[in-house]
Amino acid sequence: MTALEAETVLIANRGEIALRIIRACRRLGLRSVCAFSEADRGARYLSLADDAICIGPAAASKSYLNIPALLAAAEATGATLVHPGYGFLSENPEFSEAVADAGLTLIGPSADVMRRMGDKVAAKNAMLKSGVPCVPGPDSVLPNDVEQIQNAADEIGYPVILKAAGGGGGRGMRIVRSSEDIADAFMMTTQEAQRFFGNPNIYLEKFLEKPRHVEIQVIADSHGNALWLGDRDCSMQRRHQKLIEEAPAPGIDRSLIAQIGERCAASCREIGYVGAGTFEFLFEDGQFYFIEMNTRIQVEHPVTEMVTGLDIVALQIDVARGARLPFEQQDVQLHGHAIECRINAEDPTTFAPSPGHIAFMHASGGPGIRVDSHLSTGSEISANYDSMIAKVIAHGANREEALDRARSALAELRIEGVKTNAPLHCQLLNDAGFSAGGVSIHHLERWLEARE
Ligand code: ADP
Repeated sequence: MTALEAETVLIANRGEIALRIIRACRRLGLRSVCAFSEADRGARYLSLADDAICIGPAAASKSYLNIPALLAAAEATGATLVHPGYGFLSENPEFSEAVADAGLTLIGPSADVMRRMGDKVAAKNAMLKSGVPCVPGPDSVLPNDVEQIQNAADEIGYPVILKAAGGGGGRGMRIVRSSEDIADAFMMTTQEAQRFFGNPNIYLEKFLEKPRHVEIQVIADSHGNALWLGDRDCSMQRRHQKLIEEAPAPGIDRSLIAQIGERCAASCREIGYVGAGTFEFLFEDGQFYFIEMNTRIQVEHPVTEMVTGLDIVALQIDVARGARLPFEQQDVQLHGHAIECRINAEDPTTFAPSPGHIAFMHASGGPGIRVDSHLSTGSEISANYDSMIAKVIAHGANREEALDRARSALAELRIEGVKTNAPLHCQLLNDAGFSAGGVSIHHLERWLEARE
C-alpha cells in the first residue's frame, strides 16, 4: 500500500449501524467495505459504501457471525481495520483475537478486556475494585446447590434477580420473589443461559423495585487518556429492551453524575480500556449501582452526539488507529437535550414482527432532527434480523423543546407497507409520566398493561 492510498475499513455488520460507520469512514477519508449476507444482497445502503462483499447465507451464524468468512472478506478487499458495530460479533473476544492474529486492527478493545467485561461477574468485581458501587449480591457465580443459593438470597433479601454471567440483550434473567421459587428459577435460567450464551453460569443480585437505567458513555485512547462523554437515561424499556433513550438523564444532581463519570473514566485507565464503551447503572434513591459494561458502540450513541457535538464513531476509529483523543474532559460540554425513539418494524399493539416491502418511506427532518436509517422507499425488511429499522433523534435547547421536536418528527415520519411502532412512540411522547421525566424501568410495561 502506498502512503497515499486510504486505509480500508471492513464493516462487519448491517443495517443502520453499517450506514452510520460508512458515514464516519467518509468523514475520515477512509475507504469502507460493507460485508453483507445473501438476505441483504442488493440493499441500498450497500451502494453507499465504497465496496461491498458477500460473506454468506441469510442465517447470521453463517454470515454476520462467521469469523473465517469475515477475515477472508477483509483479506480480499485489502481492509486493515474491522468495525464490528453492535450486536453480532461486537463483544466476542474470539473475534477480537482472530482479527488481531490476522494482523488487522479491530475498532474495539482487546480480547482480554472484552473477556473480562463480558463476564458480568468479573466486570462487577473489577468495578468494585476501582470504587464503583454495584447492585448488592454475592461476588461470584452461584454454586449448583439450592440451599447455598437460598442462603445467599436470604442474606440480600427478596426479591432477587438471577442473571446469566455471559448474558446480554435483556435475556437470561429471572426475578424471584420467594425462597420456594429459587430452585426452579435457577434451573430454568441456567438452561436459558446455556442455550443463548453457551455459558451456564448464573449470578444473583438484589432486584431493585423502581430504579432508573442511567449510563455513562466513555472513550479511551491507547495513550492512557480516558474521558466520559456525559450520561443517558434509557429507562423506557420493554422486556429489558430499550425503546426510548435520552441525554442527559433528567432530574439527577449533575455533581453526582460527574462523580460517577469520573470513576468510569478512571476505571477505563485502570483496566487499560481502549475504544468507546458504556457503563450501565441502575439509579435508585439517589444511588448509582453498576450492572454491566458494554465494550462497543451502542444503539443510543446519537443522543450523546447531539448534546456533545462529537462524532463518537469517528473518535472510535481514530483511537483504534492509535490517535490521541484531541480534547480534554473540560472540553466535553453538554448542550441542550436529545431524545431517541427506536422505530421497529412490528405491530404497535402485539409487537409481532412485521417484515416486508417498504412501499413508501419519508424520514422526518427540520431543525434538531436526525433520522438514522438504512432504509428508503422500495427497501425490503428481512425477517432474518433485528426489527429495528430507524432511529428518530430530536435535539432541543432543553428537554421540553427536544420532546416537542420528537413529537413533530414522529408525526411527520412515513413508513408504509409494513407496520411500525411509530404510533406507540407518538402516544409515549405524550404520556404525562414520561413527559415529566425520571420514570423507572417499569414505567413502560405498566403503561402497556394499563392500555390493555
Ligand atoms: P443485558 O446485558 O441483557 O442488557 P443488564 O444487566 O444490562 O442485561 O440488564 C438489563 C435490564 O434488566 C436493566 O436495564 C434493568 O431494566 C433490568 N435489571 C437488570 N438487573 C436488575 C436488578 N438488579 N434489579 C432490577 N432490574 C434489573
